[in-house]
Amino acid sequence: MSHLLHRGLRDIPPQAVSAEGLIVRLADGREIIDASGGAAVSCLGHGHPRVIAALRAQVETLPFAYNGFFTTAPAEALADRLVGAAPGGLTHAYFVSGGSEANEAAIKLARQYFVEIGQTQRHRFIARRQSYHGNTLGALSAGGNMARRALYQPLLSDAFSHVSPAFAYRGQEPAQSEADYVARLAAELEAEFQRVGPDRVAAFIAEPVVGATLGAATAPAGYFQAMRAVCDRHGALLLLDEVMCGMGRTGTLHAWEQEGVAPDIQMIAKGLGGGYQPIGGILISGRIIAALEAGSGAFAHGHTYLAHATACAAALAVQQVIADDDLLANVRAMGIRLDDRLRARFGNHAHIGDVRGRGLFQAIELVADRDTKTPFDPGLRLHERIKAEAFARGMACYPMGGTIDGRRGDHVLLAPPYIATGAEIDRIVEILGEAVDAAIWSVG
Ligand code: PMP
Repeated sequence: MSHLLHRGLRDIPPQAVSAEGLIVRLADGREIIDASGGAAVSCLGHGHPRVIAALRAQVETLPFAYNGFFTTAPAEALADRLVGAAPGGLTHAYFVSGGSEANEAAIKLARQYFVEIGQTQRHRFIARRQSYHGNTLGALSAGGNMARRALYQPLLSDAFSHVSPAFAYRGQEPAQSEADYVARLAAELEAEFQRVGPDRVAAFIAEPVVGATLGAATAPAGYFQAMRAVCDRHGALLLLDEVMCGMGRTGTLHAWEQEGVAPDIQMIAKGLGGGYQPIGGILISGRIIAALEAGSGAFAHGHTYLAHATACAAALAVQQVIADDDLLANVRAMGIRLDDRLRARFGNHAHIGDVRGRGLFQAIELVADRDTKTPFDPGLRLHERIKAEAFARGMACYPMGGTIDGRRGDHVLLAPPYIATGAEIDRIVEILGEAVDAAIWSVG
């Protein structure tokens, strides 16, 4: 019996003992291909020697120095690296320990910004249904994943409301053009601003490419520009959650670079430190920093492990390797290959309704009926069967159930490390194909 509380008390995962590249070795000797980098975390794969060396050097000199008293070289260098060129007007970085904390910080900073500039009535946030922003109570309030919210509903903040996600596969009517679909979503956001009171809205929060909840769902062209226009019209901020889709995963360092907009605050985590240390952060636009400077002079929020020296050293090394080895070029090339292979394997599959994603962030959605897009009965827990079938064939991938709002099928998310080779991409799709067929066969 394990004294460690796992997610499932009856379902204790096998023990990993070492890992290198895409391979995780188990205590029983099996080797598992990590096809989703955990939950889209391990962007450099496992055991990268340069990151290990940087970690070792930091631990031997200064593992930690409390942020209330000191700053450190790796924290300063990481901030310089991420915002030195002020991409999209983002001039400052703030480092926390993960994606949920990044979302909490972003929400609180947005609220504080409006207090600083005298718009104290702005405390409402509009986010999207079928989204995920983290499991802490503020982030969960922002999230629109009803299954994850249900148990905690009485504890969640009513400062948050939700509009439809940009999800063409299920949201765009057959006869509707992409432009009309975007116009409808913009009108819905506008209507929500009007319902809440436009001068009470602090920010709109969205993932540029929806990860865990919808499975690599990209927005239609022009969507984010249209959302930005609604925010600008009413003086609200745009908060983009790139915890999963960011830091290179879609082929550009930031996913928003492909959307023609820049956020006022951006949340990052996972690929920032590649799993070598727990780290997340927010990138902040100059105008928010200017308001704080002119006002109270401090961000009224903090944690013991802010800008943790070892976590920042790990993230700095990860980001240096990505740049030095030009890994985003590999993400783009392997992304095209992954898309090709997925379409070749599943394009005509009777039970795959959609193949979607960008870069090394792609998913398939399973449906009982392709024409009607009817999901499988959630009670079959098809996604769990696929996970088990893949694992039995030596591969870990990231499947999600189709129960959310009853409006989505099961999906499987793939997020291979940026170092993946063509042969590894091919093998991942081959195993996924076998696992999907075996799982569907098992449900009759
Ligand atoms: N936002 C998004 C978009 C995420 O995908 C996640 C994690 N899946 C989070 C926030 C929360 O991050 P963490 O689990 O590190 O708290």
